Amino acid sequence: MDLGIAGRRALVCASSKGLGRGCAEALAAEGVDLILNARGAEALDETAEFIRANYNVSVTAVAADITSEEGRAHVLAAAGTLDIVVTNAGGPPPGNWRDWRRDDFIAAMDANALTPIALMTELLPGMTERGWGRVVNITSVAVKSPIAILGLSNTARTALTGYVAGVARDVAAQGVIVNNLLPGLHATDRTIALDGMEAKLTGEDIDTVRARRITTIPAKRYGSLEEFGKTCAFMCSEHAGFMVGQNVLLDGGAFVSTF
Ligand code: NAP
Repeated sequence: MDLGIAGRRALVCASSKGLGRGCAEALAAEGVDLILNARGAEALDETAEFIRANYNVSVTAVAADITSEEGRAHVLAAAGTLDIVVTNAGGPPPGNWRDWRRDDFIAAMDANALTPIALMTELLPGMTERGWGRVVNITSVAVKSPIAILGLSNTARTALTGYVAGVARDVAAQGVIVNNLLPGLHATDRTIALDGMEAKLTGEDIDTVRARRITTIPAKRYGSLEEFGKTCAFMCSEHAGFMVGQNVLLDGGAFVSTF
């Protein structure tokens, strides 16, 4: 299927690795020119070089912390006019609700709610004026099914979800489509780090922890970056014009419900 977005321009935040990189590669495969972003310049430049070498698109790499005001200003200045934005950033650390204080919530809200909201505040007016735009916010399965140790993530991402539910419906008539993409467990550095943390806590080896986590997924595997990226590319496509304010869950069936 031709997604109808060749020649469009996309910012993919937090995209040197993991899910963001999966989205960037899938958009590049559709002929979308990219602005990539991450804090670390080395991995970012490697990813940018890989995409330039393998896809026929232009790639601008901007090393900056997307969760800081200066970082965002730097990225947006380099990006210019954008048709597509994939918002993403590292997730909050795991922990115990007894230890979380106001500053922990403010940091999580800043990174995982107020950052995507700030990007939409900046970019939606231009998209609505031009009559076309796509925004995909990478959130988490934790929005539908809270994970106790990731309470900071549960809180911040649910706030973003509420914001998107309203805004998406306000801009849809002007050709701007905003949705959220909710990853369950995917084979990324973050998942490997969380496997490692649990192994440390329980004293098991990492393979045992991984095997146990995988038994909770009906598909009996972690999701791949490729399938995540292709779903994101579809949500950025010409064909997604009637998909408004949705929360698309990619979790191998782990969240059990009839609907
Ligand atoms: P990852 O493999 O750790 O990759 C994170 C990427 O984001 C890297 O490129 C990293 O590069 C960049 N990044 C992190 N913080 C950034 C910042 N402040 N500014 C700019 N770039 C930043 O993570 P992932 O697994 O792809 O996860 C992406 C998001 O999905 C996270 O919010 C995570 O909580 C959420 N999520 C993931 C899963 C999963 O199974 N993987 C499940 C549910 C939710 P630098 O470190 O160089 O900046």
